Amino acid sequence: MSYQTFAKRFAALNDLLNIANLLTWDFRVMMPPGGAETRGHQMATLMGMAQDMLMSDETLRVIGAAEDTVSGLSEGSVERRSVAHARAAVDLHRRIPPDLNRRRSALNLTGQGVWADSRARNDFATLRPVFEEHLAICRELAECIGYENHPHDAMISVYEPGADTASLGVLFAQLRAGLAPLVAEISAIAPPRTDFLHGDYPEDRQRSFARQIAEALGYDFRRGCLDTAPHPFEISQTREDVRITTRYHRNNIVSALQGTMHEVGHGLYEQNIDPDLTRGVLATDLLGLYGVGGISFGVHESQSRLWENQIGRSRGFWERHFGALHDLFPDTLSGVDAETFYRAYNCVRPGQIRVEADELTYDFHIMLRVEMERRLMDGSLRVADMPGAWADAMQHDLGLKVPDDRQGVLQDMQWSAGQFGIFCGYTIGNVLAAQIQGAAVAADPQIPFDLDLGDYARLRGWLTDNLYRHGRRYDRDETLHRITGQGMDAAPYIAYLTGKYREIYALG
Ligand code: ZN
Repeated sequence: MSYQTFAKRFAALNDLLNIANLLTWDFRVMMPPGGAETRGHQMATLMGMAQDMLMSDETLRVIGAAEDTVSGLSEGSVERRSVAHARAAVDLHRRIPPDLNRRRSALNLTGQGVWADSRARNDFATLRPVFEEHLAICRELAECIGYENHPHDAMISVYEPGADTASLGVLFAQLRAGLAPLVAEISAIAPPRTDFLHGDYPEDRQRSFARQIAEALGYDFRRGCLDTAPHPFEISQTREDVRITTRYHRNNIVSALQGTMHEVGHGLYEQNIDPDLTRGVLATDLLGLYGVGGISFGVHESQSRLWENQIGRSRGFWERHFGALHDLFPDTLSGVDAETFYRAYNCVRPGQIRVEADELTYDFHIMLRVEMERRLMDGSLRVADMPGAWADAMQHDLGLKVPDDRQGVLQDMQWSAGQFGIFCGYTIGNVLAAQIQGAAVAADPQIPFDLDLGDYARLRGWLTDNLYRHGRRYDRDETLHRITGQGMDAAPYIAYLTGKYREIYALG
């Protein structure tokens, strides 16, 4: 009986968090700008209710009783894992003083406004005090959360349980050694023709192509929708209502393609969680009071990257789908064939902007950020010196001069929202995507043949069975061991990139 009481209470909490998600979706997709202030109050009220419910004596009592009931079940059972997750969430939140939470939430909101303004004016000085206050809060938060070696470890653990600065240092050294020579080699070669990627692409036809490929990949429109937002995202209100967004630029087809396939990847994960977990702890992010989804940010990101890159940037994909794109834009793509499009879509060109980076240089943007976070957290880098440190790293890693702060330290929103620790998840996602894709093909050698035929069901089914359906039941390293038999390893990712780009650039 007490497990049912526990499940019922957390289902209600799940409802509150899903309503908050719906308000967030509305805020980012539909809401008239005038609604911003009152929406801020509504969100604060709702999240306050969720927080109070999670932290209440009644919830503690219910968790305690459920722990007794499930103690005889196997350690990996859904019931025991659900109760353990709930306990961990409550324990974490109890370590953080309410006042620190309030200061953090308030600054997260105002910080984003200041960032938008300082970026528009290319003026880092305006944002500097916000970063300084965020870092002061993050250091306090790190002391509350706890860490063994480095304060940055505490912040990383919020987004990426299981990772820390030391393990990331090893991963990054592996990536630099594996990728930097290849980037240098390719940068010295004349790039392929890419002009047609920036031709005329009317939005209504881009929209119809985006929907077509989302459907082809298996995104279920009965339980989802594809909307427009300036910064694409995925958000769900249970697996029965999983929404994704993309963006359309009339003179750039790349941004809609990338945005759509990336968010489809996140969406497929959420749509394929076991229905039995709906409204349960393992389908919810209780740490979502901090904005993290899935087992870890990196595991969720591995699926957006897998569908966006391993599939969506493959030759097989474009051999299958280029015809439909050409039919929609016959003038813009006149004289262009699937192979030319494939090469252009995979053009490697070191650039300033992370979200526009190609597959091969992307991780250098992340390593720069994570290393800066670490130094900011331990005080060895001052906020005032960020633009200079940024310029040095860009010069060192990608051989580029940073023209201004707008294209440098001001380009991302994350830090202005206090998310110091979130960036490592993008590179972890890339690395895991290659490991997971490799494991899928090893387990079922038919998968690559189906992919070449434009049939994604076999891969999606394997991912559902091995990853998606479990929700948050297993942590990142358990998940990896179950799927690949080993821990995180950059070798398959480096091998994938090396094989692909040496072939495209005829490097022998
Ligand atoms: Zn993502």
